[in-house]
Amino acid sequence: MPFSLNGFHRAGGTRFRLFAQSPVLTGFARPETVWISSPTGTLGPGPSDARMYVVEPVDKQPYGESDLPPYRGPITPPVDPSEGGHFDHLFPGDPGFASAHMFGAVRRVLDVWETYLGGPIHWHFAGTHPRLEMIPHVPWNNAHFGWGFMECGEGADDQGALRPFALNFDVLAHETGHGILFALGGMPTPEGMTAAWRGFHESASDCVAMISALHFESFVDHVLNATSGDLYVENEMNRIGELSATRQIRNASNALRLSDVEGLDLPANEITGKQVHALGQPLTGAIFDIGVEFFMDGLVDAGLVTRAYARDVRAAARDDRISQLDRKPCTEAFHDDPAGFRDALGDARDLVGLRLAETWRRIEPDGFTYPTLARAFLRVDREMSGDANRRAIRECFEWREIEPD
Ligand SMILES: [Zn+2]
Repeated sequence: MPFSLNGFHRAGGTRFRLFAQSPVLTGFARPETVWISSPTGTLGPGPSDARMYVVEPVDKQPYGESDLPPYRGPITPPVDPSEGGHFDHLFPGDPGFASAHMFGAVRRVLDVWETYLGGPIHWHFAGTHPRLEMIPHVPWNNAHFGWGFMECGEGADDQGALRPFALNFDVLAHETGHGILFALGGMPTPEGMTAAWRGFHESASDCVAMISALHFESFVDHVLNATSGDLYVENEMNRIGELSATRQIRNASNALRLSDVEGLDLPANEITGKQVHALGQPLTGAIFDIGVEFFMDGLVDAGLVTRAYARDVRAAARDDRISQLDRKPCTEAFHDDPAGFRDALGDARDLVGLRLAETWRRIEPDGFTYPTLARAFLRVDREMSGDANRRAIRECFEWREIEPD
């Protein structure tokens, strides 16, 4: 059975309203009530707790190279919890909703990854800054995670309207991903930093966002309905990307190989931000493909598709002729048993999440290369489940031209 965060409900957590995806997307206009792990009544105004807090400056520029939190300028009054200690009394448009949304989303992402890691994540900046400062709005078209802070600007949606990133779960989860990776692997020395390490950081943060989003049942259903349960993506633009329009899934289900991206051989400080994101995409694609492999195994084990179908679809994907294959056996099975597909996707999500978390814990930032990551992932998988997945995982990396040895 997949992991469930519903345990925080029974254990007395705290309620928030979160958008599972950007509210501009069809099906995600209304926030969902979720439980985070903070024990009821322990969160203060802001919201805030012992390791993170939100402040809303009246007028603040993004943090630059030299200035660091805490922010000491004028702020709007922090939002209070309800009498019962929750934050779900706030609705979109209410003062403080974006602050509560940012806190709740970041805490939920930490809940997901602390579950996979089996323990708390400690900020890498804790020596100078015991708490993460979160700022839901600065006048900027970006969001970033730095030494002791995370802050959000806003970005144009497909219609050109500006949307606050503090209400975008994907963006918040991606930035939290950087924080988790720094906490687990630390920072390279300036001499030891490679272009691959920078690409990896973006890729892994996208994986954090994708896997965290799959903990919303509404998002799982959306992905399955949009694809009729057939996650075996085309190597060109695929249906998940088109229909969900979410950045992370679009990035994840890409068809890029290492030879399609530039800059891997350049010094880490000479590549542009755009190149860094592109560099991460073949790696993200490999992880996505591994997730699809696990999903197919789950469907076979549950008797939802036959072993022969799984073998055919894998061979077709490997030879880039997946669009020629009749995939009705899969889509028909989904319409007969959507709950079985939901379980298989939840299991695949957790199989990938557990392996990534353990792999990232072992990453050495200095001199990082993609093959070392692939080797570490294979080693972790072998420790968790023997040789069963070895060949499939190797093929996913090799298709992207990431050679484990
Ligand atoms: Zn990033």
